[in-house]
Amino acid sequence: MFDFDKTFDVIVIGGGHAGCEAALIAAKRGAKTLLITQSLDTIAQMSCNPSIGGIAKGQIVREIDALGGAMGKITDIAAVHYHMLNTGKGEAVWSPRVQCDKKIYQFAYKHFLENQKNLHILQDEATQILTKNGAVDAVVTLRQTKYKTKAVVLCSGTFLKGTIHVGKLMLGGGRYNDNAANFLSTSLKDLGLKMGRLKTGTPMRINGKTVDFSKFTPQPSDNPYTPMSVFNLPVKKDFLQCYIGRTTDKTAEVLAEHAKESALYSGNINSIGPRYCPSIEDKAVKFPQNRHHPLFLEPEGLHTEEYYIQGFSTSMPEYVQYLLLRSVEGLENAQIVRPGYAVEYDYVDPTCLYPSLEVKTVSGLFFAGQINGTTGYEEAGGQGLIAGLNAALKGVLMPATRSLARNPSS
Ligand SMILES: Cc1cc2nc3c(=O)[nH]c(=O)nc-3n(C[C@H](O)[C@H](O)[C@H](O)COP(=O)(O)OP(=O)(O)OC[C@H]3O[C@@H](n4cnc5c(N)ncnc54)[C@H](O)[C@@H]3O)c2cc1C
Repeated sequence: MFDFDKTFDVIVIGGGHAGCEAALIAAKRGAKTLLITQSLDTIAQMSCNPSIGGIAKGQIVREIDALGGAMGKITDIAAVHYHMLNTGKGEAVWSPRVQCDKKIYQFAYKHFLENQKNLHILQDEATQILTKNGAVDAVVTLRQTKYKTKAVVLCSGTFLKGTIHVGKLMLGGGRYNDNAANFLSTSLKDLGLKMGRLKTGTPMRINGKTVDFSKFTPQPSDNPYTPMSVFNLPVKKDFLQCYIGRTTDKTAEVLAEHAKESALYSGNINSIGPRYCPSIEDKAVKFPQNRHHPLFLEPEGLHTEEYYIQGFSTSMPEYVQYLLLRSVEGLENAQIVRPGYAVEYDYVDPTCLYPSLEVKTVSGLFFAGQINGTTGYEEAGGQGLIAGLNAALKGVLMPATRSLARNPSS
């Protein structure tokens, strides 16, 4: 029977934004690397808005780019709209933000990984991390295969024991319609790690054919534009348009009337969110003086009519989501194609990590991305790159250099 070599220098668990950068950079550094991810079709999927960059985020993508990561280059491949934010102020605070075609982004990243030397990609789920003498020894998967390794980078995102909330409806899932990873948390607890629950959320997606765009202010792409990657030059592109609108007094009334039906305020969600992208019901409760919130209609891609409504994240029941849409000028007839929802998931207390992102108590185990309580694609990518580099140091280099990965300040 054929049995391929199951020993790797580095194993990366999870092919999201952190895992992709981690796997790529570890392999580039010469480590024999395995990326295990639940589905090859969701590699680098954007769980929420179809955009990369923005204030406090764009510069992280540029840093990833400078250090040999792929996020900036993939962004330019998938870009449908460029906007440099904050140009009214000095250049130091300019922030590049790029709308992407979601599917092109995923498939371009997958292709990038497939072409990387030293990198093997596998569709499976990691269920256990085994240790020996306080150091990582192997990863076991759902298909009961054991892969030996010297270093593991765990990038599980919102998937560990993920629970989806739409009003009172609760479903298992790391994203709506993607399986949760239900086994690995037990293994992490057995390693003595302090864990907790966080939540985040996303707005409804609507069919653009049912929107009256004349009621919104168009926001065309910058043209000429500045590419996200400093290694790219501008090329001729098919741009799509974004649109800006606002919630109304009627929206505030709907929110006040139905607040208790939100998963957030019904008692079904007890966990807190990372400090980014509050839901529209959260904004209504916490900032009642602000009755009109900005909304941005963002196209999801070149081959779809789906639009993402930035600023309308919600875990209200679906019928209330319709009432919210009806309250906005131009969205009176909008049809929901995917409801907004909240997701709760297990994270690990990041104080258990060295600055190298290695777990203090388990040699060779690194964490990156949302498992550490980060909130966006860019932070996840940045942490993935750092953890992947340090895991490669651990996995392939001499013991003297390995101590550097353990404590970079030494
Ligand atoms: C509903 C929702 C709303 C969000 N809203 C926002 C927002 O408004 N703004 C924002 O900046 N960010 C938002 N995010 C967060 C953003 O998606 C994440 O920050 C980013 O994707 C984190 O990257 P990651 O690599 O850590 O994890 P993810 O991108 O979540 O990727 C994790 C990957 O790991 C895989 N995986 C998990 N466990 C295992 C396992 N045991 N074995 C194998 N594979 C595994 C999963 O299948 C997945 O492919 C949202 C996420 C969700 C789900």
